[in-house]
Amino acid sequence: MKQEPSAKGLFFDLHIHTSAVSRCGMIPPEDVTGLYAAAGYTGIAITDHFFKAYFDSLGDLPWEAKIDRYLEGYRRAKQNSHGLNVYLGMEYRNTCTDDDFLVLGLTEEFFYTHPETYLLPWEKAFDLFHQNDAVVIQAHPCRMRLVQYSNGRLNKDFLGIEMLRYLREHPGVPRIDWNEGMEKFRQGETELFRSPVFLRLCSPRCIDRLDGVEVYNGNQNWMQDPAEVAWLCEEHPELFRISSSDFHAVQHCARGGIELPFVPENDRELASALRSRKIVRLLTSRA
Ligand SMILES: [Zn+2]
Ligand SMILES: [Zn+2]
Repeated sequence: MKQEPSAKGLFFDLHIHTSAVSRCGMIPPEDVTGLYAAAGYTGIAITDHFFKAYFDSLGDLPWEAKIDRYLEGYRRAKQNSHGLNVYLGMEYRNTCTDDDFLVLGLTEEFFYTHPETYLLPWEKAFDLFHQNDAVVIQAHPCRMRLVQYSNGRLNKDFLGIEMLRYLREHPGVPRIDWNEGMEKFRQGETELFRSPVFLRLCSPRCIDRLDGVEVYNGNQNWMQDPAEVAWLCEEHPELFRISSSDFHAVQHCARGGIELPFVPENDRELASALRSRKIVRLLTSRA
């Protein structure tokens, strides 16, 4: 049954992981759709992690069989949609850095016929996605995590809301690249972490090839510095903005999303709606 615009609005979450594919995902696809239907959403995009280590973990299978496995989250969600519109996406990462990109609008066929796109540099990969009518959105481009050494361990368990509060109260807290910081920690430089320190996980990349940026990410395992996000938006008004939940577990459900004025019929229409800036509202949750 086709949903029509209502006072409530047509809500979509474009950043969703399932336990069928993403090792960090906690919820099977058929339950993800149930949760989002119950939360009043109209559609979700399944964006399981697409990166080299995942495909390597599948062993010696031919590429087609690996893609059969990769698409399982999306296909099971679509088959058990609970009335939701389910779109196909991926959270793409190449082998250069740990930065992530949501790619929406590709066909299943594309995945089968373009093996190992994670080996491409961003420029080549994004051009290829664009040639196939997709949009590329950098996920959490300003992602950081607060860490502190206490009781003999590196505490990484701060919630996003706590990190934001800490940043407001201590704007001068040191920021260190994640890999650099972890390397220092491994080498025994624990003193550096006696007081909380921000470790930077992501940075804006390949901006001239992006279509959009995820300015709000509802996941509570990290945060984005609001000042950096504001700077990015101001410097790059050409990029459209999305909010998402980055759903991995029940507590992430419906913490973010976008409102569209109509229901895209398919992946191509979704990509086109985003490209032509049809988003009317970003949904956020600070609770
Ligand atoms: Zn994940
Ligand atoms: Zn994600």
